Amino acid sequence: MIEYGLLVLLLPVAAVSGWYAGRRGSARHAGQKVSRLSTTYFRGLNYLLNEQPDKAIEVFLKIAEVDKRTVETQFALGNLFRRRGEVDRAIRVHQNLIARQGLTDEHKSQALLELGEDYMRAGLLDRAETLFCDLVAVSHCAPDALRHLIAIYQQERDWHKAIEHASRLEEVTGESSARMVAQFHCELAEQARIAGRIEEARDQLKSAFEVEANCVRAGLIEGKLDILEGQDAAAIRSLERVARHDPDIIPELLKPLMQAYERREDWHRARAFLAETLERHPGVSVLLALTRLIEREDGADAAIDFLTNQLRRRPSVRGQGALIELSLAKRPQEERDVLLVLRQLCDQLVAGAPAYRCGHCGFGARSHHWQCPSCKNWGTVKPIHGAAGE
Ligand SMILES: [Zn+2]
Repeated sequence: MIEYGLLVLLLPVAAVSGWYAGRRGSARHAGQKVSRLSTTYFRGLNYLLNEQPDKAIEVFLKIAEVDKRTVETQFALGNLFRRRGEVDRAIRVHQNLIARQGLTDEHKSQALLELGEDYMRAGLLDRAETLFCDLVAVSHCAPDALRHLIAIYQQERDWHKAIEHASRLEEVTGESSARMVAQFHCELAEQARIAGRIEEARDQLKSAFEVEANCVRAGLIEGKLDILEGQDAAAIRSLERVARHDPDIIPELLKPLMQAYERREDWHRARAFLAETLERHPGVSVLLALTRLIEREDGADAAIDFLTNQLRRRPSVRGQGALIELSLAKRPQEERDVLLVLRQLCDQLVAGAPAYRCGHCGFGARSHHWQCPSCKNWGTVKPIHGAAGE
């Protein structure tokens, strides 16, 4: 993939190089130099466009050698090193920039920001945090420094600090951080729920709902807390509401929801809800839950009929596997061996394909993540629909 961000960063380099050369020498000399630098620069650009970053970096290194005093060239070079994973070299470039005499405040702040990013990339989070904290005080750098700090606190799972800085970012930029802050409260609620601190978990959920009234994750945790406290009717209400609000979350909430129905033995409501959901938002998780319910209430034959009809309308590998499983007991031994091979094939097909994908960066995952492991966005990982997925 071509790095457009990098191209944009490098575009001013040719112009600045030309201007600088022009300022230093005679018109003729400058003309030659501009021409030489421009040719070199465009060769480098060409390598980048052809996705040959190694050759590009050699070319830009040459420009930087000719043009040691131009700050933009050094920034471009440091950036290239970091993107190529040569963090040590990036750190050296940025440290040299910071130590330079006569650097404007703006350039110095920018170099500190870049150095902080180098430290993050190198895993030196403590050093990065110190740098960014200092930069937050400098107003024009505050938003970028705050974004980096929030990233660090997420990585360290320090949700309290993440909340504090996300709120600050909202104050500084005016852009809403609500969805992110709600997720941080949910992380704290989950921690408290798992540790059995129910009251604390409920407080965090309250905060999550305050910033994002329809927070799906908070609704799901609320349902789980209700079950933990034996409030099964409340759990059913909460989880059904979440499912209606965001059908993509249904595969995650079916387990606690079915548990709540079971404890109340409210099979009538369970069946009505699953049938309604299947009609509105067809998916294999709901289909299989309803099939199991039909098997339990009406027997295996009714379940096989129901599942066969549904699979004709909407093929699914997981559904096929479940149908084979249901049919096994009814078949003679020689057919069972064939069916077992088929079921194994279905299992392998399901196991080999990602079941979730991030709508932002395209990252594929086997299980659900609230935060995309690749692009770090919250709430972007959704189930993949279709025969091989949900
Ligand atoms: Zn992503």
